[in-house]
This record gives sequence, C-alpha cells and structure tokens, in this order.
Amino acid sequence: MTTAAPEQPADVVNRLRATFRTGRTKPMAWRTGQLHRLRELLTERGADVAAALHTDLGKSSTEAYRTEIDFTVREIDHTLEHLDAWLRPESEPVPVHLGADARAWTQIDPLGVVLVIAPWNYPAQLLLAPLVGALAAGNAVVVKPSELAPATSAALARLLPEYLDTDAVAVVEGGIPETTALLAERFDHIFYTGNGTVGRVVMRAAAEHLTPVTLELGGKSPAFVDRDADLAVVADRLARGKFLNAGQTCVAPDYVLTDPGTAAALEPLLARAVETLYGTDPQTSAEYGRIVNERHYDRLSGLLDSGRVVVGGEGDRADKYLAPTVLADVDPGSPVMQEEIFGPILPIVTVDGLDEAIGFVNDRDKPLALYVFTESEETRARIAAETSSGGLGYGLPLAHLTVSDLPFGGVGESGMGSYHGRWSIETFGHRKAVLEKPLH
Ligand code: NAD
Repeated sequence: MTTAAPEQPADVVNRLRATFRTGRTKPMAWRTGQLHRLRELLTERGADVAAALHTDLGKSSTEAYRTEIDFTVREIDHTLEHLDAWLRPESEPVPVHLGADARAWTQIDPLGVVLVIAPWNYPAQLLLAPLVGALAAGNAVVVKPSELAPATSAALARLLPEYLDTDAVAVVEGGIPETTALLAERFDHIFYTGNGTVGRVVMRAAAEHLTPVTLELGGKSPAFVDRDADLAVVADRLARGKFLNAGQTCVAPDYVLTDPGTAAALEPLLARAVETLYGTDPQTSAEYGRIVNERHYDRLSGLLDSGRVVVGGEGDRADKYLAPTVLADVDPGSPVMQEEIFGPILPIVTVDGLDEAIGFVNDRDKPLALYVFTESEETRARIAAETSSGGLGYGLPLAHLTVSDLPFGGVGESGMGSYHGRWSIETFGHRKAVLEKPLH
C-alpha cells in the first residue's frame, strides 16, 4: 500500500482501521519494530530533516538536532527501555465482599486509529514525539504536519512511508481544507498541538464522534524574577530560553515579572547575555533562527513599540530576521501583553513584589509554563501552591519538557491532557478495568 496523494481522508482512515482490526499493531514486536525504524530514519536521514528545518525556520543544524531530531531519538530510547514495564497489568486490591479468590487489575489497550496534528515551530519534534507514543501504545496513526513549515512537511511525507508500516501509519499533508476533511472522519483520539482558536475547532469536530482530544496549546508563560536571585545567571538562562528558535517556542518565557529595582539591574545583563549568545549582529549568527513567515514578522514588528528597547528592536523583513529584543517599562495594557508573543521579544513588566506577581498571574489565563528565579524556598512554595500552570520551572526555562517522565501539557487555556514517556501511553491507550472471579 502507498499513501499516494489522491487518497481521500475517508479512504486513509478506513485503510488504517482495517489494519488495526487485524490486530497487527498490537504485538510488542510490531510496536518496538516501528520505533526502531523511526529511530533509523532519524539517524540515517537526520540530515534531510535538519536541512528542511533550516529552510523553514533558519534553524542551525546544532539546534535542529538538539531540539527536534535527537530529542525524538531520546524519546524513542526511553520508550523502548520502559515500554514493557509501562504496559504490565497493574493489580488492584479487591474488596472483601468479592471473596478472597477474586482478582482485579488494569491493562492498557490501544485506542485504534489516532490523528496527530502538528504546528510549524518544532515541526518535526511535535509531529514525531506524539507519533512515538501513539505507536508504542499500539495504534494506527494519521499524522498531519503543518503547512506553514512546508519543507519539513514534505520531508516527513517522503521519509515516514519509507521507514514505517504504511498500512498503519499515514501522512496527510495540507492546510485548513485538508485538515477540515480529516476532522470530519471518526478517530479514536485526536492529538492537536497549536493555538487555542483552532483547538476549539478540533474539539468541536471531535465532539461529533465523541472522540477524546489532547490539546497542546500555548499562552503567555511568565518568568518571575526575585530580587535575591543571581541576576547574571538569570539573564543568561532567560535569554537562552527566550531566543531559542527566535522565540517561537510554546514554553518560552513570554515576559518577565519583577520589581523595578531588579528590572533596572536585569536590563544590562540581558543585553550582555544576548551579545554573548549571538554576537553584536545576531543577523550574521548561524545560531540565530528566523521568523516563520512575513505575516508573523509583521505581527511581531507591530509589538516593538510596546516599551523602551533595551537591546535589539531591528528587523529585516526580506530575511524574516527580527533581532533578539528586550523591552522595558512595559505597561500591562500594551499590545505586547495582550497575546502570546511567540517571537524574539522579551518584555519586562514590573510589580511591587511576590503578592502582586501571584495576583498578576492569577488574573490571566493559566499559562503553559511558569518560571521562577529565586533563592527563597518560601517563595517557591507559595508560587507552587497559589498558581496554576501546565508546568513549573524553578531556575531554568524549557528544561522540564526534556524530562521524559514528566507529563508535558497545559491546563485551562494552555490545553488539556499530556504526553511524553509513560504519559503518552496513558494518552494513546485506554486503561481497562478487569475483574476476575473464579466460577467454582
Ligand atoms: P499552525 O498554524 O501550524 O497550526 C497548527 C495545526 O493546525 C496545523 O497543522 C494546521 O494545519 C492546523 N490548522 C490551522 N488552522 C486550522 C483550521 N481552521 N482547522 C483545522 N486545522 C487547522 O500552528 P500555530 O497554531 O500557529 O502554532 C502556534 C501555537 O501553538 C502557539 O500558541 C504555541 O504556543 C502553540 N504550541 C503549543 C505547543 C505545546 O506543546 N503545548 C507546542 C508548540 C506550539
């Protein structure tokens, strides 16, 4: 079987469902075999994927391997190492009234045919890491790469069928019309990564078939900096976390929340951190990425006058280059604070201390990540107890999502459900309750 372009979404889904019904995707050997093949794709053809990522987003090869290709290889290795244990039935105590010979346990079943819809910012990782979980859980999978990263979409559409079982894994390329057509079909789970507006479209379509969804969304992830923190370290880590992939990272620190004195001290340190990372002219740095397209470039340019420019502020539309930019004296009512920035602009907003910072976070949508830089155990404990966010990072942005057994996902407006490591098995499987009572 091939995934030739003219195949209609309904035919793709029917074909995969027929495969799933044969039971082919359930044995451990099929699952691990597919994971090994995906690993081979990434090791043998990683350079093709890296080249596509460079075309789409100006990602350096180092960054492409670190954040997408090797990231996925690690997810595969972790899954191969632990899958047996994750899938082992788990016994549960049985109440006395059922008798001493009764037993109860849970087992995880595959769901069936699942759909994975990926965005453009980490277009390989965010398609392949969910695919790892879906295959490991024994499903047939349709993956839909983002049309806004066309080179990566084309590379994956070419490579995945070369390596994986095409009767059980299909790549459907395209934009809104193709995705809308796919969403009309009945899936057993839909895993969507992207923005909340489309998340609602996905959830509405899924409701027609009572299909469960995982929504990996975004939002404004705050970084609270306490006055006791080592600000040189904070500036370095904030700059690395923010300007990776030119700020187009769902868990990037969106803005800094700190008191006015700390803000003043942080400004020159952030400027220095940017220079250390990318030199005096980041446009010439091989390590600095590009904005995905002109539309996003124009949107981001419109946010630059929301504050006083500490560093950056320049851009080159033809090159889709926007300098790593820090804005100070930013008013919470300004445009840059109204939407997820999703680009290389770091506003500093001042509050008078921890209470106001907690209030500021709680007045807004629950973020995908919240970062806290402090030496104070009490401050860390208060933020953990008094705020809600998808993830919480003390002292280091982004890194929590590299810990394979931490669930990665949002809460409220930043999403629902989670994945990575064993959490992917829970997401892409059904934990079935089983009771056994002997007949004699
Ligand atoms: P995008 O524009 O690539 O859209 C994501 C997917 O949705 C694509 O595959 C696209 O084809 C599809 N799509 C777009 N419009 C659609 C429609 N009307 N109907 C059906 N499908 C449609 O990516 P994006 O949404 O711009 O991604 C950026 C957002 O994603 C940010 O908010 C970011 O924070 C979030 N994000 C979240 C995570 C996470 O893991 N939580 C990761 C990356 C990005």
